[in-house]
Amino acid sequence: MDALMLDGNAVAGLLQEVFAVEMTTAIETCNRCGATDPVGALYVFRGAGIVMRCPHCDNALVTIVKDSTRMWIGFAGIRTLQVTV
Ligand SMILES: [Zn+2]
Repeated sequence: MDALMLDGNAVAGLLQEVFAVEMTTAIETCNRCGATDPVGALYVFRGAGIVMRCPHCDNALVTIVKDSTRMWIGFAGIRTLQVTV
């Protein structure tokens, strides 16, 4: 990890604003390398928005951009997301 990188737990509050289930323990499958990890274990980079990356292959799994009234969430790098209901 570099100094500007956090793990997925750093965006738990942001994800909780949108999803009704606990997201840090949700299991994602990377669409590039096939690895599965809890969202809380992903690498998080903050800049103009947030990019969550696969800790195995660096694939951009989730992108999040937020303004004062809306949030744009892209899941381009995730094959599946398993949540506990
Ligand atoms: Zn991967």
